Amino acid sequence: MDLVAITSLGTMLSAAVTALKDAKEVAKDSSDGELKEKIGAAYDTLLELKIRLYEYDEVVRQLRQELETRNAFVGPVEPFSYVYRTEDTERKSPLCPKCFQTVPRVLSYLSAQRKNGVGINRGCNQCAWLNYETRTGSTSGDRERHYWDP
Ligand SMILES: [Zn+2]
Repeated sequence: MDLVAITSLGTMLSAAVTALKDAKEVAKDSSDGELKEKIGAAYDTLLELKIRLYEYDEVVRQLRQELETRNAFVGPVEPFSYVYRTEDTERKSPLCPKCFQTVPRVLSYLSAQRKNGVGINRGCNQCAWLNYETRTGSTSGDRERHYWDP
């Protein structure tokens, strides 16, 4: 259900509540107790329906936000389980997979590739996670250091 449909339903519900309010006002002078009771019950039901509609509207809003967030990232991408922003189509700026999985999520870019006597690595300035993409004499990287919860 989209927001326009919910707004439209909200408008219709408000109109129904107003109509019932009017009926309640007219029935106030009536001596028909059963009529008053039925109008009151219908009024209560409509108000409850209106509350539920706003609750569902909030759920839809949260789900949309989650979907937008989900579509904003790609990963984990092998061989290093890095996560990338979707717009980083050339996969040049990986995000730290450890920080990415924290709750609430932290977005921290890994460093550029750094070469030292042991090999080539990238590190996170936020959490100090370090991954050797290659080690001297090895091109397979440091698989034990990959960080991704199953
Ligand atoms: Zn990190």
